[in-house]
Amino acid sequence: MGQLFEYKDIDRRFYEEKIADHLPSSFIDIHTHVWLTKHNEGREDGGRTVTWPSLVAAENPIEDLDETYRILFPGKRVIPLIFSSFLSRSEKFSVGNGYIDTVAKTANYPALLYGRPDWSSEVFEAELLKGTFCGTKVYLSLSDPSISRNNISIFDFLPHHQLAILNRYKKMVMLHVPRDKRIRDPLNVAQILTIAEKYPDVKVVIAHAGRAYCTEDIGNAFTELAKAPELLFDISANTNCDVFIKLLEAVGPKRVLFGSDLPITRLRMKRICENGKYINLVGKGTYGDVSADPNMREVSANEAEKHTFFLYEEIAAVLNAASKCGLDKSDIESIFSSCSRTLLARCGYKQ
Ligand SMILES: [Zn+2]
Repeated sequence: MGQLFEYKDIDRRFYEEKIADHLPSSFIDIHTHVWLTKHNEGREDGGRTVTWPSLVAAENPIEDLDETYRILFPGKRVIPLIFSSFLSRSEKFSVGNGYIDTVAKTANYPALLYGRPDWSSEVFEAELLKGTFCGTKVYLSLSDPSISRNNISIFDFLPHHQLAILNRYKKMVMLHVPRDKRIRDPLNVAQILTIAEKYPDVKVVIAHAGRAYCTEDIGNAFTELAKAPELLFDISANTNCDVFIKLLEAVGPKRVLFGSDLPITRLRMKRICENGKYINLVGKGTYGDVSADPNMREVSANEAEKHTFFLYEEIAAVLNAASKCGLDKSDIESIFSSCSRTLLARCGYKQ
């Protein structure tokens, strides 16, 4: 069997020069998707999400995730928080969540239940307590299909009755914010602050730094959200050093968590911002036909030779931001490890 994905000299050099010495020998990855294609039967997202992530990996069995860490982080021990990947209500939630629970128990990895907003309180509570889940992962495309993409609000896929249960059991939620304005959307900011106020025992992690992939996406969101002291942010699938600086300045290193969003960050690319929009530059033909995707752009093979992994770019960006903010080794340790360990322990995970 061949290697899961190609690892080049440029990757090794990038890792050794910019990453290896800065990371703790053992760290937590707070955002990973683990699933088998057979769980996604019936998938249909109604055009409410971007399409490029499906080009990287059709599935991510736990063996592939473990192998990815062995390839990307030689000599390090990585403990992932794992959860499934669903885009529509017609997929096999019980099978996918059951798979997560089984592999989490086997490896003693922390895990999240992939929740459905149409679950009643009783069903949600039963599903949450069925496995060893630290909380739930929710996603915008599981909202009522009659709501158009830009009208989806957080409570459409993270309903109050489920927040009340998360609050009762002191569990966490991994939240990918909806809407084209991303985290700067005033409705998102207001609803996140409402959650923090009404459900103080729910630990909310805002995924991808609120999807602020370009500085134009921030608005005053980070300073507004800094006022809710328990609110956490993961940096997964984001490579923007300036965004990370703004985030660290607003909330400090104890509320920023390393996460990968694997497997999509196995993508080999360089991300740029143009007029406030992010574009992933990829080698011509490497990821099939990307012409219909405004977030993807092909570059020549020569240019693409210089590209390394999305995940390495993310880590280099946060380390660069940490250094520009004057953070020290213990701050970096807290971003990659201790903040997440504390969070998971509070949600019931025993290492
Ligand atoms: Zn994700």
